Amino acid sequence: MNLIFLGAPGSGKGTQAVRLAEQIDVLHLSTGDLLRAAVKQGTDLGRKAEKFMKAGELVPDDILIDLIEEKQNAGDLNSGFILDGFPRTIPQAEALDAMFERAGTGIDKAVLLDVDDEEIIKRLSGRMYCSECQAGYNYPANMPKVEGVCDRCGGKLVRRPDDEPEVVKNRLDVYKKQTQPIEDYYRKQSVLLPIPGVGTPDDIFDRIRKGLDVA
Ligand SMILES: [Zn+2]
Repeated sequence: MNLIFLGAPGSGKGTQAVRLAEQIDVLHLSTGDLLRAAVKQGTDLGRKAEKFMKAGELVPDDILIDLIEEKQNAGDLNSGFILDGFPRTIPQAEALDAMFERAGTGIDKAVLLDVDDEEIIKRLSGRMYCSECQAGYNYPANMPKVEGVCDRCGGKLVRRPDDEPEVVKNRLDVYKKQTQPIEDYYRKQSVLLPIPGVGTPDDIFDRIRKGLDVA
């Protein structure tokens, strides 16, 4: 089975993708892992990618596509795969399709973990810690009894700057502009499988398995 996993930051996509890959015994491919492996192995593509990474720039689409094509040509994708974190844009999705067409294969399903904005913002900004004793709290699994107050010492709970709701909203906006259009791209190809991303991780995993009709 050849799958793509889509979902906003905080949708739980990464966790579910790793778990499913193990369950159905296919390769889990995240672009981060692909890049790190290529850099470590010192391949031509790895060296090219490293230049951008060291400069703090985004690695260009063609290098990412070439990295996936290298895996394809080596036969590493023959038993199925889950692409996690790629594609993120329409041009990337088109380039990926062209590459798979050259290889005589394609995507079976694009699994979309569907979580509404309010819940995403709650999840991403729900990471807090105590300004006095540093105890950590997390929405929804581990919330303080009284909002904003540490259970242990009564200290004030604070967020890291990256987790502030305004910053989180901004990350979500970037996702919507760049990545949400590819949901429509896969919907038009009739391969989009939307899965409600609410409830426990086990609930969500069961929905994915049912949706894909795998044991
Ligand atoms: Zn405390």
